[in-house]
Amino acid sequence: MGFTNLLQLAGEFAISDINNKNEDIRHFFLGAVALRADGVIVKARNGSSVLPCPHAHAEARVCRKAGRNSIIFVARIRRDNGEFGMARPCKNCKNKMIRYGIKKCYYTVSSNEYGVISFENRNECVREKNIYKGKSNANKECK
Ligand SMILES: [Zn+2]
Repeated sequence: MGFTNLLQLAGEFAISDINNKNEDIRHFFLGAVALRADGVIVKARNGSSVLPCPHAHAEARVCRKAGRNSIIFVARIRRDNGEFGMARPCKNCKNKMIRYGIKKCYYTVSSNEYGVISFENRNECVREKNIYKGKSNANKECK
């Protein structure tokens, strides 16, 4: 599975817990998957908490399930159009990934851009690529 598919998987997981479409007031949904060194894929997503809590971030949660040398994929799904949005991990999450020995982190920037953080090489870059395959239907599901 390529990184594009894994970002899409993270996006699909982000919107997979929308139970009551009218009561869920979130403007976006965040999901993270980790490809572990043993090939197993583990997943986590943000909760619908209205309080800001860095421990509830999807990428922080997935760290606990991922082992050393895992690669993490973080996707934000916008509620307004169902496309990818900026999912760059915050400082807390990046520090957590370093503590857990995560190798790399891919994140969505928009439907046409993604970012990569390499914890091994200590660099980060943003690249253009159409990573949106029109699979997510957050907007339709929510209304
Ligand atoms: Zn965070």
